[in-house]
Amino acid sequence: MTQRCEITELFTDQCAHCRRIPDEPAPERPRRRPWFPAAFPGCCAECLDTFDEGDLIRSDGAGGWIAECCDDD
Ligand SMILES: [Zn+2]
Ligand SMILES: [Zn+2]
Repeated sequence: MTQRCEITELFTDQCAHCRRIPDEPAPERPRRRPWFPAAFPGCCAECLDTFDEGDLIRSDGAGGWIAECCDDD
C-alpha cells in the first residue's frame, strides 16, 4: 500500500521530498563546511600557515583543516 507524505501529501513514491531521503550515502561533493574554533593548534592544509587554538578552521574533506587564511568564498 502506498503511503502519503505527511509534508507534501503526495504519494511517497511521487514525493521529491520522500524520494530524496538518502538510504544510500550520497557521494560527498566538495562544498562549504562549517567553521568552528580549533581545539588545538595546527596548520592550514592549503597554505601550510599555522593556526592557533581557538582560530576558526574547517575541514577540507580530506582529513586536513583549512584556516581563515584560505577562506575560498
Ligand atoms: Zn515527502
Ligand atoms: Zn591557509
